[in-house]
Amino acid sequence: MKPSPSPNPGRFLAVLRLGIRAKLLVTILLLTIIPMGFLGWQAFSEQKRVIGEEVTRSHQELSNLLAHGIHEHLEATRRLMSAITDLELIKTLNPVAAEDFLHSLLKNYPIFKLVYLVDTGRRIMVTTDPRVTLPADWSFTNVVKRSYQGSLSEVFKTPEGNPFMTLESIIKSPDKGVIGVLVAEVDLLYIRDLLKNALKRSKSQGLVLDETGTIIAQSSPEVKTFHIVGAELQDSDVTTVRDIDGERYLITAVSLKKFDFYQAPNWTIVLQIPEKQAFQAAFELRQRVLSLLIATAMVSLILAVLMANSFIGPLLNLIAGARFIGAGDFTREIQVTSHDEIGELTRTFEEMRTSLRTTREDLDRRINELDILYRVGKDISSILDFTQLQNSILEKVVKVVRAERGSLMLLDETEKTLSIGVAVGISEDIQREARVGLGEPVAGYVMEAQHPLFVEDVERDQAFLAIKKTNITRGTLMCVPLRAKDKMLGVLNVSRSEPNSFTERDFHLFQSLATQASIAIENARLYRYAVTDEMTRLYNHRYFQQRLDEELQRADRYDSKVSLILLDVDHFKKFNDTYGHQEGDRVLKTVSRLLEKSIREVDIPARYGGEEFVVICPEKDAEGSMVPAQRIRTAIESYDFRINGARVPLTVSLGVSCYPDQARNKFDLILFADTALYNSKEAGRNRATIYSPTMRTEDVLAKKAAKKKEQEKEGQ
Ligand code: GH3
Ligand code: MG
Ligand code: MG
Repeated sequence: MKPSPSPNPGRFLAVLRLGIRAKLLVTILLLTIIPMGFLGWQAFSEQKRVIGEEVTRSHQELSNLLAHGIHEHLEATRRLMSAITDLELIKTLNPVAAEDFLHSLLKNYPIFKLVYLVDTGRRIMVTTDPRVTLPADWSFTNVVKRSYQGSLSEVFKTPEGNPFMTLESIIKSPDKGVIGVLVAEVDLLYIRDLLKNALKRSKSQGLVLDETGTIIAQSSPEVKTFHIVGAELQDSDVTTVRDIDGERYLITAVSLKKFDFYQAPNWTIVLQIPEKQAFQAAFELRQRVLSLLIATAMVSLILAVLMANSFIGPLLNLIAGARFIGAGDFTREIQVTSHDEIGELTRTFEEMRTSLRTTREDLDRRINELDILYRVGKDISSILDFTQLQNSILEKVVKVVRAERGSLMLLDETEKTLSIGVAVGISEDIQREARVGLGEPVAGYVMEAQHPLFVEDVERDQAFLAIKKTNITRGTLMCVPLRAKDKMLGVLNVSRSEPNSFTERDFHLFQSLATQASIAIENARLYRYAVTDEMTRLYNHRYFQQRLDEELQRADRYDSKVSLILLDVDHFKKFNDTYGHQEGDRVLKTVSRLLEKSIREVDIPARYGGEEFVVICPEKDAEGSMVPAQRIRTAIESYDFRINGARVPLTVSLGVSCYPDQARNKFDLILFADTALYNSKEAGRNRATIYSPTMRTEDVLAKKAAKKKEQEKEGQ
């Protein structure tokens, strides 16, 4: 069953496509501003609530105080008036005595603005102001009713705007009953003083309104008011918020009726304070919280940007570095710019880069080395000529390791010595003389130890100085034994005059090259072994036959000639008999060297068999081949062969034939040379003869057949 893809929470954020910077900013802002804003708002609301309660409480206290003050004044005035109506001079309605009394009353109680007495017949008996008249609707019955109900008349205002009210008190005579009424206009300015006094230490403003909404008193002239319907505010002494002329006020309205006063007027005490003023502390707190919020937001913003930058900068740096690595460029260093986890990651990345670069460089170098080895191997493996091979090996090795000097030394197995085969940068004299025994410094030591030697500084390397004690020349050298399987072949040496100028890598490459060279040398050696005669070191009979086939084909192809020189040592049987077989062998070796020296590079010398030799002379006719033939003959004739100090003369007889001038095939070519040789023998030996058709090949064939028979007989 295929597993259903699990929902990735990161995908939801990915939808927002926010960078780290924006995410951090949003997170920090949310974490700081929301709780702070919430707490600030809570504190503000709480403070407003407390202030509101506080305002209500103080307004209630103040209104309580004011209500009592107002009531007490009214009550005192009423009591005073009631006491006056009890006076005899008032009861008698004696105009003269009463007038004086009322005037003195006015003088002593400034609260009374006007006092007069009215009898039951609506007549003003006595008055402090003669201008006074009764209103038209004034009736005695109403006064009596009012006095029983305890209701106070409405409030009036003087033209100057000062409030006053009319108080009435019934005059009763013990015998006549109600005889009149004492009417007084009472000044209400004292209420304003009460208000001012009560609000002295408060920021609130105060108003006292009568039941119609007329202002009786206000704490200061500029106090604004609104229309309050008395009923609306009755029993509602809780502070409310109202708009007055566009400004918000906290208002507490308390009705005097709320208090259980006797005959209390239906007035309302209004205490108010502008919201701005009441909540100043709360608003200041809100302002502070707001400022703090803005400051926090700014700081958060800066912090977020700084933090994001501290992440993003190193991250971008890392991304840029990673891109180069991704593109395969390992050379760009990635700077570690932070000390946090990103820095750690960057450092790891940088380590990875250097490691990758080293690996890449190693690989490149290795590929290069393998390429060199492959090319060198390819070049030298096809060379079978020994001298050419040695030259090629040394030339390539010296070039690859950039050596100043180099030599390839070969081991002479019989003599157990190493001698220079080829050399670069070494004088010919030294080359000739440089022959070291096994174990001798330095090449002999390496050969014997079968261990490569790398001396970085020949003057300082203690191990090297222990091997070579004299003739130390400044520099560095590498020396490696050449061997194929278990067979020791020689030693390869390279050096430079500057110490420490070969590297470990050069040494490894040098060793690999030596291995390649050993294989090539061994191959060439095996090849040479296969095609040469062991004793004389000339080509063997098989190789001769093969080469002759090739040369004849070439002659056919290029329409050229091939000549053959066949030679046989004279009276060699006798030589052997006289001096022994070993001396005979030694002589045959010398004859081989003399033969080699007497011919051209292109001529091919071979041991034909026994003491018979043959030379293939490409592109030469019979006459032309007589030159080397005679040279060979004289070289041997004139050579100073000595046995036990005594000179022993030795000669050879030679026969020359040519293809296609004389012979038409290989068989004939050999037969004709043999015939010519036979003729040389017949003519007295120590001479060279060119084949001529007049010579009898039958004699040669017969002689050969006879000799074969003789040999067979000897063998039995
Ligand atoms: P001539 O050729 O002058 O007619 O006389 P000869 O004595 O040389 O006669 P022949 O060529 O028939 O003799 C060949 C002799 O050479 C026979 C053998 O004893 C000797 N011989 C052949 N091969 C070798 C060899 O490898 N070593 C030695 N020491 N002698 C050899
Ligand atoms: Mg012979
Ligand atoms: Mg002979």
